Amino acid sequence: MAWVPYSRGLHHVAEGCWAWLEPPGTWGMSNSGLVTIGGETLVVDTQIDPPRARALRAAATGVAEEITTVVNTHDDGDHWFGNLVFEDARILATTAASDAMRTMPMDPRRLGEIGGEGTALRRWSQWRAEVYDYEGWRPAYPTETFDGSLTVKLGDGTVELHEVGPAHTRGDAIVHVPAAGVVFTGDILFHRATPIVWAGPVSNHIAACDVVLGLDAAVVVPGHGPVASGAAVRETRNYLVHLLEHTLRHVEAGAPPEVAYRTFDPGEYRLWPHTSRAFPTIQAIYAEHRPDLAGLSWAETMEIVLAGDAE
Ligand SMILES: [Zn+2]
Repeated sequence: MAWVPYSRGLHHVAEGCWAWLEPPGTWGMSNSGLVTIGGETLVVDTQIDPPRARALRAAATGVAEEITTVVNTHDDGDHWFGNLVFEDARILATTAASDAMRTMPMDPRRLGEIGGEGTALRRWSQWRAEVYDYEGWRPAYPTETFDGSLTVKLGDGTVELHEVGPAHTRGDAIVHVPAAGVVFTGDILFHRATPIVWAGPVSNHIAACDVVLGLDAAVVVPGHGPVASGAAVRETRNYLVHLLEHTLRHVEAGAPPEVAYRTFDPGEYRLWPHTSRAFPTIQAIYAEHRPDLAGLSWAETMEIVLAGDAE
């Protein structure tokens, strides 16, 4: 694979395939993808807000053919809030992701109001409300859903969708372009950053890494971070196995998740940004094995994650 710089915009990664990169990849700055085969184009994820979605669409118009299909890899807003810019296409997601979008408790038009007065969550939300723009926004939901795997015809070729959730979220999917040797992983991979497992089971996220590795694609486009290869997926897998083993020891001892978090050493991965994202992943492990000890709300969990970000 040719080296791809980590700079904002569209980068050609393989025959008919581009990655739209949005550095630095932190909270909401996610990647998208384009696949063009035989005069038709598929878009993977639509960015977090209308201006970013329009920038993606404008860049796509320069290199790709007619956009006929959109895939949302999961229900986090940074992967589908730009759907309204692509409403002339069919929009695909797993049933679980589509259900989560339709029942989303948060409205991005009131982004700056999330979290209680004086909390880190409120400051973070206000920062996001300044960085992202929801003027004229409305939700545009998937028009078609699938479960398991789906082959999408594109021109005279095919693209394969594989459901690998629940893992990062309830309904994760990956997008594989066999003819080009490219896989778009959504947030199964945060390249060069600490992964975050909101839904779990964590063992499912590890299994999702194995599915990606099994495709043996030369190019791996992560949900966040620079363009990668299988090596980055193996690193994320190793990290999650390490975190799972550490946390299960605390689960067995009956210790609370906060203790598992404070005593976790990421080892060779300690230089990855957002080390505190280990906490929601630990919570997911507790929710599976000791739900009685995993009582924190999303807002309380975020308070701990953001305190770690500030350290
Ligand atoms: Zn994301």
